[in-house]
Amino acid sequence: MTDLRVSNIERFAIKDGPGIRTVVFLQGCPLHCPWCANPETRFMSHEKVKVIPVDELLSLIMRDADYYRNSGGGLTVSGGEPLLQYEALAELLRRAKECGLHTAVETSGQATKTAFKACLPYVDLWLFDVKSTDPERLSTFTGADHHAVFGNLRLIAGEDPSKVVFRMPCIPGFNLCDEHFDSVFALAESLGIRRLDVLPYHTLGVAKYARLGIEYKYDGYSSLEPDVLYPYVRKGHDRGLDINL
Ligand code: SF4
Repeated sequence: MTDLRVSNIERFAIKDGPGIRTVVFLQGCPLHCPWCANPETRFMSHEKVKVIPVDELLSLIMRDADYYRNSGGGLTVSGGEPLLQYEALAELLRRAKECGLHTAVETSGQATKTAFKACLPYVDLWLFDVKSTDPERLSTFTGADHHAVFGNLRLIAGEDPSKVVFRMPCIPGFNLCDEHFDSVFALAESLGIRRLDVLPYHTLGVAKYARLGIEYKYDGYSSLEPDVLYPYVRKGHDRGLDINL
């Protein structure tokens, strides 16, 4: 299969890996995080989904080749959960590497080992979501399987921990506490992962729910001001971790 179901393409992104990048958002996600800012990406079928052959997608991405070259940037694939379409994704990543691009994949970790193994040789950087280390909490809130997610994390970190960055969505009422940060810092240290991105909860995606006719169930919380997170970030720095907010 060489087509990808794409929900959006963002050019000139600077926060999803090094340098200037194109971020391709793939359609479909097996999870149902109630705070999700991109609910339109969850469903495999959606009126705005574009089905794009890998060849064509690569041509679109390569429009900005000079910017990637000059900035050390490249391609980031996000979602949804991009590994749901792992066969075509692996092909896209392989072709992007052939073109000399730096490649990054953002994942929830909820995919098969086969999917991770197929993409592993062509990924320079994994942006790996760590929402909770508590199996019950993770499953109840998001539908994720702790065993699968953290098994996949061990697989990719076991290959090369310097290619893994933790992405920590910080969600009030879910994981905004010392216990969570301490356990994620300990997990990073145990796997040799040094870099973590702290992502404050925001409500920018709420209007999309009404447009999609879905109820936004995570009502009642305001967007987090970054200074709320400074004490946690400081704790991570004190442990020698490289944390970006
Ligand atoms: S894993 Fe990401 S895309 Fe999927 S539901 Fe959760 S926040 Fe949304």
